[in-house]
Amino acid sequence: MNINKNLSFYKFMHKQIMVIIALNVATAPGYLLMGYLYTSMVYESIWMVLMTVILPAYGYFLYKQFSISMTILQKDIWLTKVRYFMFIYSVAWTLMFVYYISSDNLEMHYITIATQIGSGVVAAALLASQRKLLFFTVASIMLPLAAYFLVIGELFSYILSFFTIILASVLLYAAKNTNDYIMKSNYQAYHDQLTKIGNRRFFLEILESSAREFGNKYSYLLLIDLDYFKTVNDTLGHDVGDELLREVARRMQRLSNEYGNYIARLGGDEFCVLSDTYSNEERCLESAKVFAAKLHSEIKKTYDIMGNHLYISASIGVNVVNNRSVNAAEFLKEADMAMYEAKNQGRDGIIVFSDDLYALVQNKLEIERLLYFAIEEGEISLNYQPQVDNNDKVVGCEVLVRWNSNKLGPVGPDLFIPIAENTGYIIELGEYILTESFKTINEWSNNNLDIQTVSINISMRQILHKDFVSMVARVHNEYIESGCNIGIIFEITETSSSHDLSSLKETIRQLKEYGISFSIDDFGTGYSSISYLSEISLIELKIDKSFIDKISEAKQKLLIKLIVDIAKNLNLTVVAEGVETVYQRKILEEMECDIFQGYLFSKPIKKEEFEQLCILSVDGRGWNV
Ligand code: C2E
Ligand code: MG
Ligand code: MG
Repeated sequence: MNINKNLSFYKFMHKQIMVIIALNVATAPGYLLMGYLYTSMVYESIWMVLMTVILPAYGYFLYKQFSISMTILQKDIWLTKVRYFMFIYSVAWTLMFVYYISSDNLEMHYITIATQIGSGVVAAALLASQRKLLFFTVASIMLPLAAYFLVIGELFSYILSFFTIILASVLLYAAKNTNDYIMKSNYQAYHDQLTKIGNRRFFLEILESSAREFGNKYSYLLLIDLDYFKTVNDTLGHDVGDELLREVARRMQRLSNEYGNYIARLGGDEFCVLSDTYSNEERCLESAKVFAAKLHSEIKKTYDIMGNHLYISASIGVNVVNNRSVNAAEFLKEADMAMYEAKNQGRDGIIVFSDDLYALVQNKLEIERLLYFAIEEGEISLNYQPQVDNNDKVVGCEVLVRWNSNKLGPVGPDLFIPIAENTGYIIELGEYILTESFKTINEWSNNNLDIQTVSINISMRQILHKDFVSMVARVHNEYIESGCNIGIIFEITETSSSHDLSSLKETIRQLKEYGISFSIDDFGTGYSSISYLSEISLIELKIDKSFIDKISEAKQKLLIKLIVDIAKNLNLTVVAEGVETVYQRKILEEMECDIFQGYLFSKPIKKEEFEQLCILSVDGRGWNV
C-alpha cells in the first residue's frame, strides 16, 4: 500500500464527488437558456441529460459505493473509477465549447469561452490532490481555448492565447501547492517524525484493512521492543538514543523492503512489522521465524553513533494472523503477549504466540489475582537454606519465601516473585517477609543460635521504592532488639540504570546505620557487573548456580576463578550457590570460596528444622560429605 494513500485521502476524494456534482448541476442548465436563445436546443438538451442526469447518477453511485470497510484493493479500484468520472465530468464542457465556437454567432463564442475558463478553474480546485489527472484535465480544457484564439489570427487573439496559457500554468501551479500541502499534512498524520517510517495510526489502519482481506490467507505480525533502551537514553543522552532509534528503523526498513513487509514505530522503542499474505499457515509461520531471526541479528549488530560503540538486543513477539477475528487491536495484543513473554524469559529472544502461551498468560493472571490475598489467607511462609563454611559448620542461612495456595497448591517464587514485582504487590509482600524474618532473627539471637548472618532477598522494585528505607527502619526498630548478634544481609540483583544506581547507593548508605549489609545475588548473570561492584558498598558476592553447574568445563572454571579473584580484591566474601556435588564443593574450596549453599548440604527447610540442623553442625556431626 502506498503510505500516502490512506484512509483520510479516500475520504477526501469521496467528499469531492458531491461537490463536483453540485457545481455542474447548478451551472450546466445555463446552456439550455443558450439553446433557447441561439440554437435549436437539440444538442443542449442531450448535453444537459449527460450533465445533470447520467453523470450525476454515476457519481452518486460511486459516492454510495465507498465504505471505510472496503479492502485496500477495493478502495484502489474505486479511486480509479472516481478519477475517470471527474475527468469526464470536467472535460464534458469542452464538447459544448467545440460546438459553440463552430457557430458564426460571436455572442455564443463569448459565453462558451467564459464557461470553459470556469470549468478549468473548478477542475484545478477540485482535483488538486490528483497530479496527473489534474494536468490532463486542465490541458484538455485550456488548450482548445488557446488554440481557438490562435486560429483567429489577429494580434489581440495571439495575446489572448498567451494569457490563456499563463492562466493554465497559474492554475496548475496553485493546484500543485495545494497538493503539496495535502501531502505534507497527510505525511505528518501517518509518519513517525523521528524515524520517518509509519506511525501507530498508519499501522493500525493497514492492519485493519489487511485483516479484512485475509479470507483464508495468513500474515505474520511482529512486535519488537528494544531491551534496556532506557539505559542508552539515561547514560548517553537523548541525542544518542534518537539516533539509535533512527538506525534501528533504517535496518528494519532495509530488511522489510526485501520481504515486502510494512513497518511502523508504535512509540518509544517499540516497532511493528506486518507481512504480505500467505495461503498456507505453516509456510507463513516458517517465514515469520526466518524473518524474525534475521531482524533480530540485524538489530544486534554493533552501532557507531556519535563516537559511541553501541550494542542493543531486542525482544520480539510473533503472531500469525488471519480473519478468525477482524480486530486489529486483538492481533496486536496477542503479539504483545508473546513479546512480554520474550522479556520475561530474560529478553533478547523471539517468542511465537500460541494457545499454550495464551494459557500461560491466563495462568499468570490467575496467580496475580490469588496472590493478592495470599498474606491474609495465611498462605505465605518462609524457608531457610543453610550456608556452611569450609569446616561444614552452618554459619548462616538464606530466607526463601514459599506460597502454598489453597487453590493452586505450592507455587514457586521463580513464578510469583516476578509477577509480584510487575504488579507492585512486592512492596506489601516484601514488608511481610522482612517482618517475619526480623522476628525470627531476633528470636534466634535471644536463643543464642550459633550463626553469624541471615540473608534476605530484596527485589529491585522494592529497594527503589521511595518508602523502603523508612519501612526497614520501622520494622527494624519494632522487632530487632539492641544487642542482636546476628548480621543481616540484603541480597540484591544488578540494576542497569544509572539513575537507579545513585538512589541505590544512598539507600545502602542509610541502611548501614541499622547494621544491614548488602550482597550481590546471582552474580554474573546480570548487566554491567564489574563497574557496578566497585560503585556500591557491599560485603558479599554470590556466584550464580548456572556457573557452579558447569564447573567441570574449563572455561566456566576459569570464569568462576575470575569472579573469586575480583571478589577477593574487593574484600568481599564469596558464596557459592547451588552446590550439589562433592566434586563442585572440592573445586570451589580449592579456589578459596568462603561459603557454600546448596542441596549438597540441605534444601531450604522450615524454621524448626533449621534450628535443629544448626545444633547438629555445632555438635560436629557435620554433613557427612
Ligand atoms: P535466589 O535468591 O538465587 O535463591 C536461590 C534459589 O536456588 C532458591 O530457589 C533455592 O531453593 C535454589 N537452590 C539453592 N540450592 C540449590 C541447589 O543445590 N540446587 C538447585 N536446583 N536449586 C538450589 P527458590 O527458593 O525457588 O527461589 C528462587 C528465587 O526466587 C530466588 O533466587 C530469589 O531470586 C527469589 N526469591 C525467593 N525468596 C524470595 C524473597 O523472599 N524475596 C524476594 N524478593 N525474592 C525471593
Ligand atoms: Mg538469593
Ligand atoms: Mg541466587
